[in-house]
Amino acid sequence: LVRLRERLSRSQGPLGRGLLALLSRDVIDEDTWEEIEDTLLTADVGVAPTQELVARLRTRVKVEGTSGVSIKDILRQELLTLVDPSMDRSLHVEGVDGAPGVVLMVGVNGTGKTTTVGKLARVLVAQDKTVILGAADTFRAAAAEQLATWGERVGVPAVRGPEGGDPASVAFEAVREGIATGVDVVLVDTAGRLQNKAGLMDELGKVKRVVEKQTPVTEVLLVLDATTGQNGMSQARVFREVVNVTGIVLTKLDGSAKGGIVVAVQRELGVPVKLVGLGEGADDLAPFSPDDFVDALLG
Ligand code: GDP
Repeated sequence: LVRLRERLSRSQGPLGRGLLALLSRDVIDEDTWEEIEDTLLTADVGVAPTQELVARLRTRVKVEGTSGVSIKDILRQELLTLVDPSMDRSLHVEGVDGAPGVVLMVGVNGTGKTTTVGKLARVLVAQDKTVILGAADTFRAAAAEQLATWGERVGVPAVRGPEGGDPASVAFEAVREGIATGVDVVLVDTAGRLQNKAGLMDELGKVKRVVEKQTPVTEVLLVLDATTGQNGMSQARVFREVVNVTGIVLTKLDGSAKGGIVVAVQRELGVPVKLVGLGEGADDLAPFSPDDFVDALLG
């Protein structure tokens, strides 16, 4: 966990420290506020949240001044408000009526879905939960293989179907197997072809419907790549229309100083960031903690 915090601090530190440096100037004039705005926008915080934050900072600096009270404390409080610490970030992996909890991992190909399924399996296994994986990304040739490899690494079985086969039938089979063997959680990797919204809608809708013939889906996690900025935001909008997203996983936060996307995407979807990916390794997944995030920003 310490390692994860360090990594977060390395990638996100420039944003917070940049803001702090600007706010620590002797004279904070209009140019300074503009620079503050630019810093936030560059970090993908988004226009509306940026304007809100700047307005609040302006008021506080005016009322409280920057001597006496620590400007760092003001910034920390306001950044925390922006990340919304009141959201419920727990993962819903408890099944209904003795059946396993079912997590659907959705998102565009390349964002880190399969990797996240593997990492999450490891987290759950470490919590003494039994897990089974469903390789319902039958579209990308190597996806099922990659998921099976993760399964071996973590020590959990993976249910696979024929390449190019029906994703919904693989998901159904994984959940059936999960119920039959009495596991705690079924993690289903899905395909994310974005070329065609209607196709995606049909596919994900069918996966969910078919699974829910057996037991409810307890969590739908949308995986977004933090390095893709506004592109990630438009993906988020499409997925919101297609499926009822219950949480966001922000991957590759280690490779991007654009951590402001956390704020933007939560606003846009009204759904919390629950997990963050901070590397390619098995242990590089962490629960998203607003406090740790803001601490990492401010270093
Ligand atoms: P999928 O197509 O959405 O299933 O994406 P993959 O799971 O295959 O991941 C795509 C690439 O992103 C792989 O090379 C992963 O190792 C890498 N990746 C996934 N998550 C992270 C992360 O949090 N940080 C970094 N640096 N790379 C990641």
